[in-house]
Amino acid sequence: MNKIPFNKPFIIGKELYNIAQAVFSGHLSGDGQFTKKCHEWIEKKYGANKVLLTHSCTGALEMAAILCNIQPGDEVIMPSYTFVSTANAFVLHGAVPVWCDIREDTKNIDESKIESLITKKTKVIVPVHYASVACEMDVIMDIAQRHNLLVIEDAAQAVNASYKGRYLGTIGHLGCYSFHETKNIISGEGGALVINDQNFERRAEIIREKGTNRSQFFRGQVDKYSWVDIGSSYLPSEVVAAFLYAQLEEGDKINTKRLGIWRNYYNGLKLLEDLGKLKLPFIPLECEHNAHMFYIVLKSEKNRNKLMDYLVEHGVKAVFHYIPLHSSPMGQKIQPNTFNLFVTNKVSGCLLRLPIFYELNGYEQGKIIELIYDFFKVAIKKTDPL
Ligand SMILES: *Cc1c(COP(=O)(O)O)cnc(C)c1O
Repeated sequence: MNKIPFNKPFIIGKELYNIAQAVFSGHLSGDGQFTKKCHEWIEKKYGANKVLLTHSCTGALEMAAILCNIQPGDEVIMPSYTFVSTANAFVLHGAVPVWCDIREDTKNIDESKIESLITKKTKVIVPVHYASVACEMDVIMDIAQRHNLLVIEDAAQAVNASYKGRYLGTIGHLGCYSFHETKNIISGEGGALVINDQNFERRAEIIREKGTNRSQFFRGQVDKYSWVDIGSSYLPSEVVAAFLYAQLEEGDKINTKRLGIWRNYYNGLKLLEDLGKLKLPFIPLECEHNAHMFYIVLKSEKNRNKLMDYLVEHGVKAVFHYIPLHSSPMGQKIQPNTFNLFVTNKVSGCLLRLPIFYELNGYEQGKIIELIYDFFKVAIKKTDPL
């Protein structure tokens, strides 16, 4: 059997046609017709107030940190179980990440532990929607309101996923999306900042355009443009936006396909959960996820590593996930003493992600499930072919 990778970038529709259009239009830098189409599409489809494409979710998080006016010593509450950019964007401006433990069921920030971490220096809470399953946003927004804090959603994995009928990324003051090739809707590298609090709109445009009021100039609102604030270059080129627009248009098709793959894993592995061999993901009723990830949680780190090795030996690339940021070299330098991250440490050691990508076929998936049964020496129940 051919090897099964963990992820595989794909094209689904008009990507290459759009890129040709962008080339022939004579406008290849940022904010051309395809960038505008992407903005409008995301705003309309997800009910977002205003959206700006960025070159990455990392870029969107960095813009968010500038918009929050992060100053040295400000504290930002976030999970340690996340990607580096969640923390790094704020640390760049001298903020101190304050690690909050996660929930064992969803692996999201444990909203019941946030309030005890708030101090006079706290400025922002960053919920990360792990695997596109929503954090408890009602509780988090309520805490933020009572303590006068800002909420930045790291919705990198959560494009086209929702919480109580609202799309993720549109609930906090700002939201950050990723279109990296490892996500669901892709453009190689790519991201977007979702601006839900209108007060941030004008400054966001300036920060994204190297600290200039170029966007206002192009709209004819000022008669020349100049350097008015700090900023950087966060725009993607039209080549990237052209690719992305084709993917956005097929976003629901991507979701449906991935959810099918996700359900096959869930149903296929349910017996092993019932036998107590592993744990499957939990999706709260109010959350519609986008099947960004399929993970299983093993009983111990040793058990997890053995299964991972077994799968890799048999040509299936299964991978663990975040090394908690508090235990990374940089995390240790910032805050050597961290306690009470019990669930974070446990999940990080025991979680294993299985291959999931648009073109994963039923035959390949059947093989993966069979290998996991073999590993546990449990006879697989032959049902209908996937
Ligand atoms: C992928 C990811 C990012 C970074 O996205 P880029 O677009 O690669 O910068 C940030 N946070 C989380 C939770 C992610 O999964």
